[in-house]
Amino acid sequence: MSESVDSKDAWQLFLSSLPDGALLVDAHGRIALVNETLASYTGYAVSDLVGAPVELLVPPGVAGDHARARETFAEGAARRPFGSHTHLALVTRDGSTHQVDIALSQITLEGEPMSLALVRDLDDLHRASLHSDSELRYRLAFDISVAPIVFTDDHDKILAANDAFCDLLGRSRDELVGQDSTPFTYPLDLGLTEASLERVRRREVDAEHYTKRYVHRDGRVLIVEVARRAAYDASGHLLFNVISERDVTEERSLTAQLAHQALHDPLTGLANRALLEDRLVRARAKISRQGGFGAILMVDLDDFKDVNDSHGHLVGDQVLIAVARRLEEVARTADTLCRFGGDEFVYLVEGVHQAEQVRRIAERLLTALEQPFSVMGLSLLQHASIGVAIWDGESADDLAVLEQADLALYEAKRLGRHRYAVYSPRLHQSHSGRGHDLQALRGALTDGSLSMHFQPIVSAATTTAVGFEALMRWRHGERGWIAPSEFLGLAESTDLIGELGSFALREATRAAASWSSAPDGPYVTVNLSARQLFDPQLAQRVRTALADSGLEASRLVIEIPERAALEDAARASLIVDELRALGVGCALDGFGDGLASLAQLLHLDLRFVKIDRSLIRPPTDASLRDALVEVIVTLGHRTGIDVVAQGIETPDDLARLRQAGCNLSQGFLFSQAVPLSEVSPLMGTPLGVVDSKVNPSSISATQASTTSVS
Ligand code: C2E
Ligand code: CA
Repeated sequence: MSESVDSKDAWQLFLSSLPDGALLVDAHGRIALVNETLASYTGYAVSDLVGAPVELLVPPGVAGDHARARETFAEGAARRPFGSHTHLALVTRDGSTHQVDIALSQITLEGEPMSLALVRDLDDLHRASLHSDSELRYRLAFDISVAPIVFTDDHDKILAANDAFCDLLGRSRDELVGQDSTPFTYPLDLGLTEASLERVRRREVDAEHYTKRYVHRDGRVLIVEVARRAAYDASGHLLFNVISERDVTEERSLTAQLAHQALHDPLTGLANRALLEDRLVRARAKISRQGGFGAILMVDLDDFKDVNDSHGHLVGDQVLIAVARRLEEVARTADTLCRFGGDEFVYLVEGVHQAEQVRRIAERLLTALEQPFSVMGLSLLQHASIGVAIWDGESADDLAVLEQADLALYEAKRLGRHRYAVYSPRLHQSHSGRGHDLQALRGALTDGSLSMHFQPIVSAATTTAVGFEALMRWRHGERGWIAPSEFLGLAESTDLIGELGSFALREATRAAASWSSAPDGPYVTVNLSARQLFDPQLAQRVRTALADSGLEASRLVIEIPERAALEDAARASLIVDELRALGVGCALDGFGDGLASLAQLLHLDLRFVKIDRSLIRPPTDASLRDALVEVIVTLGHRTGIDVVAQGIETPDDLARLRQAGCNLSQGFLFSQAVPLSEVSPLMGTPLGVVDSKVNPSSISATQASTTSVS
């Protein structure tokens, strides 16, 4: 304060111009000057107050405290802004009280130290709002509003709060009024309110919108959207704030939940396809910027359909969940594991620098599924095949990467499942027509271009046919004869394989029934792949074929590939027993893995074992192989199992087999597989002179098929 205004008159003028109540109190606690506004709060005249002790305006119960606080303040000569102290009550002439807020500072008036008190009547705000009808309406609206609303002063201390606001926080009005929001603000959000207040105080904005969190009395964290609007006096000072809030806690968690649901698979909780595609786009962008490699590993469960079929979908679902957890355990945090659909998972690898790392990941994923799964009291083996596509910054688009992984997966399946294969452009060439081929194969099932051919199984002693192996043939419109090895793999990757199995059984049993109606007529053998063998509907398919054809069950033999039987010997044994119960015999096909597996497999109730061609026509060390064949034959005979030597092409092969004691044989020496119409000439006569016995059309057919395989 400069000297020129250090006079009572100057101070009186100054106090009169203030919007707030104001008074000067001398060192003895007497009112030296007071303005009209303050007098109006109290009901006294200005002249009544000047010279009166200031404690006149303080509730009697706290007058002593007030006097002491006043003296302490005068000695300390500090400043105290509005809102820096708990609100006081001001006693009016008629004895009623007003809530007021007081700002204090020390000044000098004509050489005397004085306390300047600026007094703001808090109730005034409310009274003012009741002054007119329209304000009454606002007041009512405030009271009944379901939206939480508060009025706060220029320091954001709550002047009034409606019921909705009290309910929002689970606190009473008494607990709230006079407080700022600090005690019930979520700790991490402290500062948000202050920043907002600061902006409106500086008039950077008149209105503010922000979101913050509160803590409810019961400990719940609430998310609220806040709208703040400030009111200013003529000189631009902030008078008060109106703050309206909206509880968006549920809405937000619902949105978060929906967002999660939209991007995750509900069964396993893994990322879903949409999220994977998004991550893939990002990963590819990152790799083209930063270099390195990315990879897609497409993981498809082997024969998962069987789990569903034999144990039901409930168990199937639990297996999928268990598989997801196992894969998750070995997944790297930077990568994305996704359930791509059904029993297919995709693992997206980012930022690797050597293809070798990707191979190791593929091996890790396979190993993770090695141990059986315990699901609903069952112990189930569930292996997988993996197709791997590796790309760098320059590679083709996202879809192409997924397609490449898919082709590699198909290759892994074709190579016998339970393994991984890495995409190479060669795969692309050989499989580019896959979808087309599948469609054509489906058509072949009904248009007659798929058929069964028959190759005699002869008695080694007489070389007359005792049975025939049914082998599938596909005569393709453009590509000629296609070997089963080429199209069965394709069918195996889809449900088409089941239909092909039924087709083979139906055609083979019908053919055998046509050869003879006698129970001891020539038998027919039908090949089954591992997948067909473990098809829960197998027994039913066999029963149907027998019933439809009228063939004696004892004249049907099912050939089970050695590998399938070894893969799950227990299950293979159950299937053999089930077929035996129908009266159908079983043969172990392509036997050649050695003695270790023989001991294991001879426990199966087999009609015969078919020794693989690789053992009959060994490229090296014939004597060792001969010895092995002899052991197999001896073991077989001891357990009552006949042994068929396959791939007999020369009289020399036949001689060696006879030497080993093998009593059945099969091979080009006797006949290639021929169409049904050419079977009857092969019956009843000794076979073995290729030139005269084989019909030229079947030779060309088989030759064509051989060329298309290679
Ligand atoms: P596989 O069960 O080992 O069938 C014998 C294969 O060896 C047949 O080939 C047959 O033509 C051929 N073969 C027979 N004798 C000789 C010989 O002396 N020398 C040589 N080099 N080969 C001989 P194919 O018909 O191409 O069949 C290949 C494989 O396809 C079969 O192997 C079998 O595993 C599978 N297959 C054939 N038909 C069916 C079927 O209807 N269902 C299923 N699931 N698989 C089938
Ligand atoms: Ca066979």
